[in-house]
Amino acid sequence: MIIESIKRVGKITNSVWLFFLDLIFPIECLGCSREGRWLCEQCFKQIKFKSRQYCLHCKKENNFGEFCPPCGILYGLDGVWIAALYDELLISRAIKSLKYHFTSGLAGDLSELMILFVDRLLKESRTLKSGLTGSGVGWRNFKRAEKLPLAILNFKENLIMPVPLSKRRLRWRGFNQAELLARRVAEKYGLELDKDNLIRTKHKKAQAKLNEIERLKNIKDCFVWQGGNLNKRNIILIDDVVTTGATLNECAKVLKAAGAGEVWGLVVAKG
Ligand SMILES: [Zn+2]
Ligand SMILES: [Zn+2]
Repeated sequence: MIIESIKRVGKITNSVWLFFLDLIFPIECLGCSREGRWLCEQCFKQIKFKSRQYCLHCKKENNFGEFCPPCGILYGLDGVWIAALYDELLISRAIKSLKYHFTSGLAGDLSELMILFVDRLLKESRTLKSGLTGSGVGWRNFKRAEKLPLAILNFKENLIMPVPLSKRRLRWRGFNQAELLARRVAEKYGLELDKDNLIRTKHKKAQAKLNEIERLKNIKDCFVWQGGNLNKRNIILIDDVVTTGATLNECAKVLKAAGAGEVWGLVVAKG
């Protein structure tokens, strides 16, 4: 009983705290300090999309961020879609703010960026698909179109999932930034969202301070799927940043063990 009331007070404190943060630090653009928005319209327009995607393992450029066949053997994940360049100051600032300074309001702008990026990805795939239906686009495009991921071909059937946080980190931050992004992407395209069944069981060291091999060890066996069989359903996993792909890949392995079809990552940027 006592614990329950402490928990309840804890929750209130959290939202009150966020409210005061907004009062103390007025919202101003991370790019030009103009008041009113975290990313003003003008600065937003300056952000460069990542026009070419690549295999996250060997960095070879391709259309859809898929792992090339020899690299793919090492991964449960099918590929990663990266919306923007992290080395753009504005993007790295925005992501750090979203994660560490509790500015959940930024999720709106960053998800907008993801959405514009997905629009482009779908447009590109439509162009390639028209090659498949024989409108004279040529053999080269025809061959490219053959390799279109199912998650793009049947985009409306995808299941959207945020990369989960551990309970401890969620309590500390007050929100899961990946969930805020996932919610908006799902809403925009009318896709089903599952934010509850993929669980992060262990609270491990923050990945940012580790090298590639340490990351793999650190993240291993951290996720559990609590839902039913996924019956070949294709899944888009959403996170703010990808680095080596170790986290997305661990999620993908767990989801595929539960019957998922393709599993793709969609992130704002590569850190
Ligand atoms: Zn601005
Ligand atoms: Zn590769």
